[in-house]
Amino acid sequence: MTTIATTNPATGEIEKTFDALTDEEVDRRVARAADTFASYRETRLEQRAEWMNAAADILDREAEQIGAMLTTEMGKTLKAAGAEARKCAQACRFYAAHAAEFLADRRPADPGRVGASDAYVRYRPLGPVLAVMPWNFPLWQVIRFAAPGLMAGNVGLLKHSSNVPQTALFLEDLFRRAGFPEGAFQTLLIGSSKVERVLRDPRVKAATLTGSEPAGRSVAAIAGDEVKPTVLELGGSDPFVVMPSADIEAAARTAAESRCLNNGQSCISAKRFIADIGCADEFERLFVESMRAQRVGDPMDDSTDVGPLASERGRADVEELVADAVGKGATVLCGGERPDGPGWFYPPTVVSGVTPDMRMYHEEVFGPVASLFRVRGVSEAVEVANATGFGLGSNAWTRDDAERERFVRELDAGQVFINGKTTSYPELPFGGVKRSGYGRELSADGLRAFCNAKTVWVG
Ligand code: NDP
Repeated sequence: MTTIATTNPATGEIEKTFDALTDEEVDRRVARAADTFASYRETRLEQRAEWMNAAADILDREAEQIGAMLTTEMGKTLKAAGAEARKCAQACRFYAAHAAEFLADRRPADPGRVGASDAYVRYRPLGPVLAVMPWNFPLWQVIRFAAPGLMAGNVGLLKHSSNVPQTALFLEDLFRRAGFPEGAFQTLLIGSSKVERVLRDPRVKAATLTGSEPAGRSVAAIAGDEVKPTVLELGGSDPFVVMPSADIEAAARTAAESRCLNNGQSCISAKRFIADIGCADEFERLFVESMRAQRVGDPMDDSTDVGPLASERGRADVEELVADAVGKGATVLCGGERPDGPGWFYPPTVVSGVTPDMRMYHEEVFGPVASLFRVRGVSEAVEVANATGFGLGSNAWTRDDAERERFVRELDAGQVFINGKTTSYPELPFGGVKRSGYGRELSADGLRAFCNAKTVWVG
């Protein structure tokens, strides 16, 4: 039986437990979603936009309280949690403003060429979509599905991570308070073993999952068996390449920010730092300095940069990966030892001399641990950057146009950020290649991912 509970990562104390829904309660919610969809899909876009903007207003107005809830449930700093709530508000406003444009009929063909008086694509919603979501950005990961999904006329069923039940319930409440019909967005407090039953329900038409590879594989396999579309956003081990022409100081500062983002638990954090030999010494010195300068501590404190990891298991996983690398000859340049005391803290850590026989070379490290590599030239940088099974984001620092063009073309990733750090924006598509998943969230692509692109031909 899954425990659905809020356990404060800064103290390790269980603060609140929740009963999982029974199968009957889940069925009632799925039925309500299907009933609601029948009428919701015909609501006017202006009406949906009004509700979506009301949700944005609530998120902005209550950002402080929401932030405290997120920090208590999964340990991100209070300042990052408040910023997450405000980013969600912006995304709601973005889709309220742009859904009409993204859903407008598209006339790709000259109707005469296909023997029609008119021909176009009409975007229609699919129905209830199951969203299986993770704890690391417990609000943002859900909103980036829910805002475009609801604007497109779909309804949502959220199965959130078992460690963020208060955030899960808040999200259902958010959309209800904003004015959306009762069944438009519902939370299912269930453990992962109950996902299959929901996914196989014929009333559920599609699924989106953000999380680990095993979870993604399982959901995609079931959805495949049911012939239901899925979008998967899985892990990443993003490369961060630094070439000698770059602003090395800015690169080192940004590298540390990226690696420590969300206490090191972000799929698009840069995790592998690849410096050309022409600037490797300088980059290493500045990067280690920046990592050391991050303040680890109480996530509620405004001056804290890095709070605890979200779970005891999560910290143990990070420790095992570091121990494996050190045992096989890697060197720890800073960090590497958990502090004494309560809470699941782990310090910003830089490891050099990481080789392919070490787990860290291939696996995602979900904590503030960076591996450092030295290469000679763009070709070797690209080779090391592409040497993992992941392909979510990537970062390259260079002021050389020819080098930039090579990184854009050759890095195997869903996104390439030049002289910056990978970030998600409502305006830009977000997603990966290889084992980081498939499909795209955000932008028009994200909204259309859960639409039936219906071809209309008129004789
Ligand atoms: P999981 O992938 O296990 O959890 C994410 C979501 O999937 C949760 O809602 C979880 O439910 C659900 N889930 C888990 N297993 C299944 C399954 N077999 N079928 C259906 N749903 C499932 O992530 P964890 O929290 O366990 O983190 C483990 C690792 O995953 C991290 O260390 C990191 O590497 C990666 N990860 C990546 C994220 C990303 O943003 N790409 C986000 C989170 C994790 P429940 O909580 O009830 O188990």
